[in-house]
Amino acid sequence: MPVYKLKPACKDYLWGGDRLKKEYHKEFAGERLAETWELSCHPDGPSVIAEGPEAGLTLPQYIEKHGKGVLGSNCQIFQDFPILIKFIDARDDLSIQVHPNNIDALEKEHQYGKTEMWYVLEAEEGAYLYYGFKRPLTQEEYRRRIRDNTLEEVLNAVPVQKGDMFYIPAGTVHAICKGMVIAEIQQNSNVTYRVYDHGRVGAVQIVTVTGQQGRNFGPVRAIMSGQVRTRFPASYRTFAYNEIISLQKRNSLQEVQTWTTNECSPCILPTG
Ligand SMILES: [Zn+2]
Repeated sequence: MPVYKLKPACKDYLWGGDRLKKEYHKEFAGERLAETWELSCHPDGPSVIAEGPEAGLTLPQYIEKHGKGVLGSNCQIFQDFPILIKFIDARDDLSIQVHPNNIDALEKEHQYGKTEMWYVLEAEEGAYLYYGFKRPLTQEEYRRRIRDNTLEEVLNAVPVQKGDMFYIPAGTVHAICKGMVIAEIQQNSNVTYRVYDHGRVGAVQIVTVTGQQGRNFGPVRAIMSGQVRTRFPASYRTFAYNEIISLQKRNSLQEVQTWTTNECSPCILPTG
C-alpha cells in the first residue's frame, strides 16, 4: 500500500500566532496561523494529498476513489472517518467552550460529537489551560458568572508543561490558553459551543444554565444550556449538554428554529 504525505488545511483564527510557520515550517500565505488540520476528512478543512500520482486530491476524494478499504479494518465500523488531528498555536487565549457528545451532536448537528486529547508540544513559562470547574456550581452562580464575565474565576486552571497530555471528554468545559503549541487528536467534528470568548465575538453571548453536576477533581460534566455564539457569525444557539433542553439556531434565511425536549424554555439575552 502506498504511503502519502498530506498537506494540512490551515486556519487563521484570531488567537493564532506564527510558530507553526516559523518553527514547524507550515506553508501558509497569511501571517497568522492558528491551526493546521494535519489529518482531516472534515468538510470544513480536508487534508490534501501532497505528492505522487494522486497529488491534489483531498483525503475524502482519495477514499471515495479507492474505497474505505484503504483505511484498514479498524476503521470499517465508522460511518465517517473517525478522527481529526491538528496542530494548534495559541498566541492568545481561545474561547471557553464545550463540545457535545455523539448522541447530541449526531441528532442536532449531523456530525460526531467531540472528545479530544491534547499533547503539549511547547509551553511558555506560566502557561496554563482551563479544564473543568474548580468546584460544583449552582446553575444560578454559573448563569451570573457568564453574565458578569467572571466565569474564569471558577474554572480549573491547570499549569502546563511541554510533554503534558490531557484527555477532554465531550461535556467538559475547557479552554486552551495563550503561550502553547498543542497537537490535538479529536473526533472528526467541528461542533463547538462557546461559553465565553473574552469579549471578542460582538453580538451574542451565553446566558442560561439548567443545572450542573460535578466533582471537585477531574473533568466536570456540566449540564447546562446557554445562548452561545457558534462558528457562524449570524447564528446562535441555546444548548444543554447531556440532556438537551432546547436548541435554537438561525437557518440560512435568518429564521430562528427551535427544538425543545422538555418544558424548560430557552432564555435568550443578546448582549450587544
Ligand atoms: Zn475544544
